[in-house]
Amino acid sequence: MEKILEVKDLEISFQSYKGEIQAVRGVSFELAKGETLAIVGESGSGKSVTSKGIMRLLPHPFGRIKNGKLLLSGEDLTERSDKQMRDIRGAEISMIFQDPMTSLNPTMTVGSQLMEGLMQHRKLGKSEAAEIALELLRQVGVPNPQVRMKQYPHQFSGGMRQRVVIAIALACNPKVLIADEPTTALDVTIQAQILDLLKELQREKGTSIILITHDLGVVANIAHRVAVMYAGQIVETGTADEIFVDPKHPYTWGLLASMPKIHELTESLLSIPGTPPDLIRMPAGCAFAARCPYVMEVCRALSPRTKVITETHQAACWLLDERAPRIQPPQGARP
Ligand code: SF4
Ligand code: MG
Repeated sequence: MEKILEVKDLEISFQSYKGEIQAVRGVSFELAKGETLAIVGESGSGKSVTSKGIMRLLPHPFGRIKNGKLLLSGEDLTERSDKQMRDIRGAEISMIFQDPMTSLNPTMTVGSQLMEGLMQHRKLGKSEAAEIALELLRQVGVPNPQVRMKQYPHQFSGGMRQRVVIAIALACNPKVLIADEPTTALDVTIQAQILDLLKELQREKGTSIILITHDLGVVANIAHRVAVMYAGQIVETGTADEIFVDPKHPYTWGLLASMPKIHELTESLLSIPGTPPDLIRMPAGCAFAARCPYVMEVCRALSPRTKVITETHQAACWLLDERAPRIQPPQGARP
């Protein structure tokens, strides 16, 4: 299994007038070639911040990488200059967002936006770039690409716009595509089409994907592996099967139990009672203790160590200690 990206002990903080926000607190994971890793968690769990950190797109001067390594094919991105990062972004790592309008330029035709990256990163001439742009629009399933090339983003539907964004993101065959809630703004049928498209393109191009989402339905559809984030840490990681069939962390149980039966939900509808801890003044012990139905005395005093369950499955919870009572996940968290 070829490792494309290794994130090692990543710490990211933000300066605020109240103090330092510890948004990402020691996150480590690996991404293999052609693999999709989903990072799931509620709003504010640090999943988007992690991805912006990988892209080196944290807001200046408030956000910064305090510690850790970001190894892209063995090269540490934390040591790259801003200029080098501009070349790496789009060419080696690309990102797509929830709202395609944020990544498209409303004043440029879709064709020129596609050609721009090709000319800049792949050093192609205009006519060659135009040819490839046309082919890319075809690949992502935009009908009448010849006509569409000359149109502006507002002339596209939401789903078609997201297809264009995917075409732009994949134009230079990046090693890694980070997709942050790529289908959240779309209706259910279009969501499924976009996920199918991502899967198909991944098969063809061997792209590795980091999918950031709060929607476990999306995860089940596309992810090979899942990392569950809470309060800036990964609390459980495993293959999609391990997370859905044999989840070990009470927070994962809560996420699974609050999976919508109908597909429409926003991040605020998650039904785990309580709110995440204050990331400026983190309490001692387990970050989930204040909301956990199974909290024990030890949880409030000491952070749980990460337990290895299988070669691919790990979780950080005191319930996995030999001395803890045996607790079964609640009904809703079972398949
Ligand atoms: Fe709950 Fe304790 Fe496990 Fe934290 S360590 S999730 S508080 S049981
Ligand atoms: Mg987010």
